[in-house]
Amino acid sequence: MVTINSEESGKKRLQSELAQLPAVDELLREALLREFLPRFPRPLVADEIRKLLAKVKDKVLRENLKVRNLLAAEIFWPELEKNLVEFIAPALKKVINASGVVIHTNLGRSPLPATAVEQIAAVAAGYSNLEYDLNTGSRSIRYVNVEDLLCRLCGTEAAMVVNNNAGAVLLALSALAAGREVVVSRGELVEIGGAFRIPEIVTQGGAVLREVGATNRTHLRDYEAAINEETALLLKVHTSNYRIAGFTYQPEMRELVALGQKYDLPVIEDLGSGNLLDLKAFGLRGEPTVAETMATGIALATFSGDKLLGGPQAGIIVGRRELVEKLKKHPLNRALRIDKMTLAGLEAVLKYYLDPATVVDNIPTLRMLTVGADELKKQAQRLRRVIKRSCFASARLQMRVATSVSRAGGGALPMVELDTFALFLRVQGQSTTRLEEYLRLRSQPIVVRIVDDWLVFDPRTIFADEFAEIGRACRELLSL
Ligand SMILES: *Cc1c(COP(=O)(O)O)cnc(C)c1O
Repeated sequence: MVTINSEESGKKRLQSELAQLPAVDELLREALLREFLPRFPRPLVADEIRKLLAKVKDKVLRENLKVRNLLAAEIFWPELEKNLVEFIAPALKKVINASGVVIHTNLGRSPLPATAVEQIAAVAAGYSNLEYDLNTGSRSIRYVNVEDLLCRLCGTEAAMVVNNNAGAVLLALSALAAGREVVVSRGELVEIGGAFRIPEIVTQGGAVLREVGATNRTHLRDYEAAINEETALLLKVHTSNYRIAGFTYQPEMRELVALGQKYDLPVIEDLGSGNLLDLKAFGLRGEPTVAETMATGIALATFSGDKLLGGPQAGIIVGRRELVEKLKKHPLNRALRIDKMTLAGLEAVLKYYLDPATVVDNIPTLRMLTVGADELKKQAQRLRRVIKRSCFASARLQMRVATSVSRAGGGALPMVELDTFALFLRVQGQSTTRLEEYLRLRSQPIVVRIVDDWLVFDPRTIFADEFAEIGRACRELLSL
């Protein structure tokens, strides 16, 4: 009789176990029977089967589990289906923003008005007169309509649009200052987020940074002392995401413009968000409008399309014709150009600004920034009723409506805190962080704030048609 030691017998067992692993083709035939095909593309199903089989093999080897058990129909196929569904579902998807941060860069900044979305869909799904003059039947320029609107709204003689504001600043510096010097106050050498830092953008534009003044105080004489025959322009930058408070000084824009005129140098400003509407009437502390800034006589200003403007991502440049023409001719302009969808959305949004009396009602970003306390309180109470009903008035649910703060966010009046009424919610016996995580991970994600161990739903950024979904989500929270 041959004796087999236990190690060898173990090996044999494992081999015969692994021999039971089916071939991918075999499982593909079964996938067809189970109607996975053609619900999902065949190559994807094959890939996912292969991945799952590798996982099964790994488990057999490491945990000594049985192939038969791991491949049991109620385990293998549901997992495969889950993986396929997850892969096929859009990775970029709608999120319910209950955080109260209106221009939330991580959540896609400005939600667009319905008409802008309709216009985008109309030109996206078919052909359009993007670069075609329907009157003459010949080639035209894609931006004419939007440029005309921008000139009216900003009081300038020229305008143009590129991919985003970072691109606009880079283009302006590249076209107007390459190989020469750009004068910037030390208080304005900001980092906006990601890789957008003023010193680096100036360098990238091929220019040399001449920083002047001190972090907290820069005087007109500092600018003047830095001017020499190499100077190309004076650059102002909106310090959109931070404030220097206390012992500070910056010269008035008019003084800087006068200095520029004395030396025949353009003054240009990166406005960041650039508002087209005077928001003072709504109690939002004084940011000059783009038209007010341009009235000081500055040569060019750049701003974003998707911050305070409430439109699609874009970089808008307005100002003097001869400078805008230089920018248009620069090769970077072509590299940074916007597509037909952006153009369609931007045009629709800008047209709303032609009527300052109704623009706030028509552009979601502006409506959210200016909605009154009474309305917010009413909406918070309505949300409480919707959730209560949806949760069958469960005693485990604790809710209260109370004052809180929302934010404008996104480099647009970022320091401004807006008083709001929010719904505070807790579930007895559940940790708040677990609840927050559940809401974030569900198939229709909901992003909330946590304040003092309460979930906070801020109605400022929640759309009316999202209340029911929040109600359903809160019912789910009760069964975690
Ligand atoms: C937001 C911001 C930018 C970048 O604008 P994008 O449109 O995001 O590229 C540049 N400068 C300032 C001052 C900003 O606030």
